Amino acid sequence: MSIADNIHRINAELAGTAARLCVVTKTHPVEKLEEAYAAGARCFGENRPQEMAAKQPQLPADVEWHLIGQLQTNKVKLLAPFVHTIQSIDSAKLLREINKHVAANNRIVNGLLQFHIAREETKSGLSLAEAEEILASEEYGQYQNVRLTGVMGVATFTHDEAQLRQEFQQLRGYFSHLKTTYFADDDAFQDISMGMSGDYPLAVSEGSTLVRVGSAIFGSRG
Ligand SMILES: *Cc1c(COP(=O)(O)O)cnc(C)c1O
Repeated sequence: MSIADNIHRINAELAGTAARLCVVTKTHPVEKLEEAYAAGARCFGENRPQEMAAKQPQLPADVEWHLIGQLQTNKVKLLAPFVHTIQSIDSAKLLREINKHVAANNRIVNGLLQFHIAREETKSGLSLAEAEEILASEEYGQYQNVRLTGVMGVATFTHDEAQLRQEFQQLRGYFSHLKTTYFADDDAFQDISMGMSGDYPLAVSEGSTLVRVGSAIFGSRG
């Protein structure tokens, strides 16, 4: 199956659901991103700021670049001029840096709060209490250049469907709570980014609105 075939197949699977596709292009050369673009993909996810910044000028301007990996505050500057969404906001400090650097570029970027939902301790993300502390802070209320558009999570690497469902339900529960408590009047807060190549059908059945799929499109990263 070609890259285009895979994208068309996944888009067909997502048709009629609440979810859209973000193509995870990390590690792949620009020619493959061009193939994905030609097949209609516009959301590209990368996990390394330098790699994303190097690829961005080589692709058409209507690509939505999503940062999906852990972001160090000293790398925010690289992305601020063009990034569309930072899916991996996991601290108050990072949110502050994003707002600052994006403001310096006279832009607004979208951001997702990343939650820790997996069993693995190594996976990063906020707890619900940490997220609420950020959202209730005076400082957050003053940010003009970062717009929170939802939540993101990475589930445990497992084939245990019950476990995966429980983690996806947990993230959806966090989203619902935050939506009701902090974003009831804000239509922009709408995304639940969950589901990867191995588990996106389950994630979609549990309410994902944004799936991040790489290897099911490009093959394994080797
Ligand atoms: C790499 C990555 C993906 C895509 O993984 P695949 O299994 O290749 O689909 C999704 N989300 C995050 C956060 C990733 O780092």
